[in-house]
Amino acid sequence: MKGKAIVTGGSRGIGASIVETLALEGWEVTFNYCSKRDLADQLIEKIQEKGGTAHTFQADVTDFESSAQFVTKAREAMGGVDALVNNAGITRDKSLFIMQPEDWNNVINTNLTGYFNITRQLVAYFFKNKKGRIVNITSVSGLVGIAGQTNYCAAKAGIIGFTRALAKEGAKLGIPVNCIAPGYIDTEMTSAIPEKHIQEIKAMIPMKRMGTTQEVADLTSFLLSEKAGYITGQVLTIDGGLTA
Ligand code: NDP
Repeated sequence: MKGKAIVTGGSRGIGASIVETLALEGWEVTFNYCSKRDLADQLIEKIQEKGGTAHTFQADVTDFESSAQFVTKAREAMGGVDALVNNAGITRDKSLFIMQPEDWNNVINTNLTGYFNITRQLVAYFFKNKKGRIVNITSVSGLVGIAGQTNYCAAKAGIIGFTRALAKEGAKLGIPVNCIAPGYIDTEMTSAIPEKHIQEIKAMIPMKRMGTTQEVADLTSFLLSEKAGYITGQVLTIDGGLTA
């Protein structure tokens, strides 16, 4: 057993790849779904068929109590936690002049406050044990401005600040805290982008393709490994050269 990991938003997309990759590498993994229970159950089945161990529970990361209950259930199911991957996120893209307060609040509450709500349940435990690793999935939208994403860019930049500050709090206890900033990755989130715009995006990316969820999962696995033990407070960008 490599360790016990919690992954948020593991039912599909990048989170599902992270869950599967860690579980097949020998981690015991607990992940949440928000609404897609069927996808979460299918993932558990797939992992079990391949000999891995995973658990899933419903949780809404925008809600502090729901987050607390999820982390408690995960700790009970696995008998401990060694690593956390904050991944659950949403987009509600539109120009600021038509953005509604609910577009702003939903994105900030899921992508930024959600990371606080989950991490807050585990830091005291990690710090007390002087053991634990945290990976926060941010985005290149946290590094550069993207029109139509004032809410998302603000949340993703916020995650970077959150990560750097927490890395300083955890460093003397040997707890690495890092961010991964993916560029355009082929998931349901990006399938909302019109095909014509996808072609323009691909033309803009130096590697001329979107990234895969597996590529993000492999980087997450590396950051959770002993090999990455001296990396903390950093943003690792994985974007095919987009921000190079
Ligand atoms: P998807 O839309 O494919 O999946 C989102 C996941 O988050 C689902 O598991 C969903 O659960 C869960 N989720 C959504 N809202 C909540 C909530 N309130 N509480 C708990 N869980 C929730 O997203 P991606 O895989 O594309 O993105 C994953 C992360 O990567 C996000 O943080 C995103 O911002 C980031 N990212 C994505 C990029 C991309 O190109 N796709 C690029 C850069 C960053 P359910 O299925 O039950 O609804």
